[in-house]
Amino acid sequence: HRVLLTGANGFIAQHILSQLIDEGYSVRAVVRSQSKVDLLKKSFDKYVDTPLLDFAVVPDITAAGAFDAALESDPPFDIVLHTASPFILRPAKSSDYLDPAIKGTTEVLQGITRVAPSVKRVVVTSSFAAIYNMGGNPISDPPKICTSEDWNEVTLEEALATENPILTYPASKKFAEKAAWDFVKENNVNFELSTVNPPGVYGPIFDPSQIAKPEDLNQSTGLIYNALLRPDLKSSDPVPPTFLYLYVDVRDVARAHILAATVPEAAGKRWFTVAGELSNQQMANYLREALPERSDVIPIGEPDKASWKPEGWYGASAPEVEKVLGLKYRSAEETIKDLAPQLVEIGKRA
Ligand code: NDP
Repeated sequence: HRVLLTGANGFIAQHILSQLIDEGYSVRAVVRSQSKVDLLKKSFDKYVDTPLLDFAVVPDITAAGAFDAALESDPPFDIVLHTASPFILRPAKSSDYLDPAIKGTTEVLQGITRVAPSVKRVVVTSSFAAIYNMGGNPISDPPKICTSEDWNEVTLEEALATENPILTYPASKKFAEKAAWDFVKENNVNFELSTVNPPGVYGPIFDPSQIAKPEDLNQSTGLIYNALLRPDLKSSDPVPPTFLYLYVDVRDVARAHILAATVPEAAGKRWFTVAGELSNQQMANYLREALPERSDVIPIGEPDKASWKPEGWYGASAPEVEKVLGLKYRSAEETIKDLAPQLVEIGKRA
């Protein structure tokens, strides 16, 4: 197999890259700048100048024909994994999220139809945010059980009218994913599409030496650091309320991308990779167990309320991922405890 991987320097994508290489796939890693190529080369130095790894720089994924040059390859690509999309939750013009997400996706797909007809499968990294409106009321009677059939109801008009990232980021994921499904419906394409829709993705950073300071952590990892390990916290501080109770380990999401690209039955479907529930209190408990040296900082909260969730709060059900793709999920304990020592090290670079 020959794989094009966009956003290859990302938190999730570096695990995808590493798993692909381990399995003998040949990968072209696409990033936005030469400095990101250089970082990746350091982390994957064993494979640089081997047929398993090469690089392409696409500075602006929204430009017309952005991926055409990157998609030309001999041997030709049969798989494209598109993970690149802005995921930093901060107030911003809605176009900062929507344009790269949506146009980035359609540029990849158009590029494939123009210059890479050999591609047989495309996997787009979507999100739970495309499934459920996390900015709405999380409580209902009976509680909402989210599945891969659901779509976040946010409209483009709502997203365009705000700078609130709790609306604009989910909208970017929803409309990018929709654009991909519409593209395969409306065009005579050679490839099949599938999407991976993870909730909160946590777990070890592939190469923590890349992270110069805590502010450089990716969004989902940064949340854990800021809520529970920041040096100015005290153990008597409250554990912040949980915003999203659904988690998946980054290594398992990476695996899901490879399965979504290679399992015949995976084509044409959304894969809602949800491993289970995880509260901030449960994270705090795991961190305190893993990091006794940080017990002065990690909020104690109410340790025996780790599995508490407000009455009526939504949940999720997606057993097909394990049944059809055969993915086995890691436990939340393994996920958080494998990340914990990395966060302590990165915290020292503050
Ligand atoms: P990262 O921030 O680590 O990775 C994001 C990647 O997308 C980076 O390679 C980044 O490049 C690239 N990117 C961001 N903005 C742009 C842009 N405007 N133009 C081109 N490339 C861009 O985050 P994750 O690994 O977590 O995210 C990867 C994917 O997973 C995203 O699509 C995200 O929406 C999705 N996701 C993540 C979840 C999570 O909890 N982490 C949950 C659900 C979905 P650069 O380094 O140059 O900025």
